[in-house]
Amino acid sequence: MSNGRVYLVGAGPGDSGLMTARALELIATADAIVHDRLIPDGALDGARADAELHYAGKQGGGASTAQTEIDELLISLARRGLRVVRLKGGDPFVFGRGGEEALALRAAGIAYEVVPGVTAGVAATAYAGIPVTHRGLASAVAFVTAHEDPGKKNDAIDWGPLARFPGTLVLYMGVRRLPDVAAELLAGGRPSDEPAAVIERGTLPDQRVVHATLATLAQRAAEAGIQPPALTVIGAAAALGEQLEWFAAGPLAGRTVAVTRARAQASELASALRALGARVVEAPAIRVTPLSGAAPDLSAYDLLCLTSPNGVRFLWERLRAVGADARAFAGLTVAAIGPGTARALAELGIEADVVPERFVAEGLVEALGERRFARALVARASQARDVLPDALRRGGAEVDVLGLYETVAEPLSPAALAAAGNADYVTFTSSSTVGFLIDAAGGEFAPAASARIVSIGPVTSGALRERGLRVDVEAARHDIEGLVAAVVEDAARRR
Ligand code: SAH
Repeated sequence: MSNGRVYLVGAGPGDSGLMTARALELIATADAIVHDRLIPDGALDGARADAELHYAGKQGGGASTAQTEIDELLISLARRGLRVVRLKGGDPFVFGRGGEEALALRAAGIAYEVVPGVTAGVAATAYAGIPVTHRGLASAVAFVTAHEDPGKKNDAIDWGPLARFPGTLVLYMGVRRLPDVAAELLAGGRPSDEPAAVIERGTLPDQRVVHATLATLAQRAAEAGIQPPALTVIGAAAALGEQLEWFAAGPLAGRTVAVTRARAQASELASALRALGARVVEAPAIRVTPLSGAAPDLSAYDLLCLTSPNGVRFLWERLRAVGADARAFAGLTVAAIGPGTARALAELGIEADVVPERFVAEGLVEALGERRFARALVARASQARDVLPDALRRGGAEVDVLGLYETVAEPLSPAALAAAGNADYVTFTSSSTVGFLIDAAGGEFAPAASARIVSIGPVTSGALRERGLRVDVEAARHDIEGLVAAVVEDAARRR
């Protein structure tokens, strides 16, 4: 077998719109992707479903995967003949260790390509309205790494010459070292009133910028609680950001929102919230597991009711497993409980005939109205309310209920529970999630008094109250979009 090829690809600074066309094309076609932590949210959405994904970043704030291990992984994937994308934040050759990886690949005789990315030094600054060069103010720019760990003795930087550098200094990493670095630059003769800024999470919807002078920056950044990833800009041009700042924070910037739904399904909600600037705390109390069983013979029914995107997915998997395809739905009236379920059907090329205005079982019953069916199949989770089958039976239909999956408790660490309880918003998307979360907390989940408890709809609200929790916000539209809209409205009202 001939060797594959490795693409060292920059994913840009965080805003997914700043990924290059070449990066998206390579992600979409890769056999394997080895990625870091600091890549844009959703960067891997376009990857093939069967692509191998390898995470090579820091493990929960701990140590990074060793560089040699990453090199070896890239080499072994390529030796299997795979098309490998090594995806890194920003640009691979700007403090991205891309050069080391290229050297290792070259030594191993593996072909590689480099796809530059938009580096944080020009992107976070641009989003803060800071031109790194500006006629009359700065005709040179230096990218410098300040390292994160003052204990490390590999700091080869001689700050003296940098203090005399005639232009803008852009410091990557090292926000915790700001006091030392500023002191060195001042000692080297840089003026204490020189404009300076720190940009945290640049280009992301919760970007924050702190403006100060070289003398006051470290303290201002500490007061603001600036955390990595952040970048420091020092030089006359930094002051322009105060006039030119254009990037508006999202409506949920500065808010933390806990997402309690199953990890496999949380991504739609989590990324919608992140796109609005929220910090998302994932506390999945529930896991969805498909049940095994035969594919139903849909031709035996005249009505098929689907009550969740999961139901669509698992029904489809059962049909595919016996070689059936979309023709199995021919002639049936297909009812979906809400737009998410309808969308899952549409992805299979099946247009739902009925989608109610209220996305609960009662709404679906209403939407079916006076229509009568002889034989109905309700395909859904094994544990669910019987509102729909009962109503169909009252309407004279013979009803089969097909349990396609069950929801089971997902153990949650005390830390995850505490983080969820301390969030500004704690969201619940189903009544089963409520039960599992409270059980995971040993029967008592006590969110902070300031936390707002958000429910997707009346059934979930009922479950919350039954378990002794309050409901601060109930979505008017009982789906993910509606839930997000309810959080945004509430946040605006309470600003
Ligand atoms: N290869 C990357 C840099 C990796 S080093 C690039 O070209 O951008 C990681 C450092 O980059 C962080 O510590 C921070 O200083 C900076 N950085 C990365 N993304 C950033 C962002 N969105 N906002 C501010 N700084 C960022």
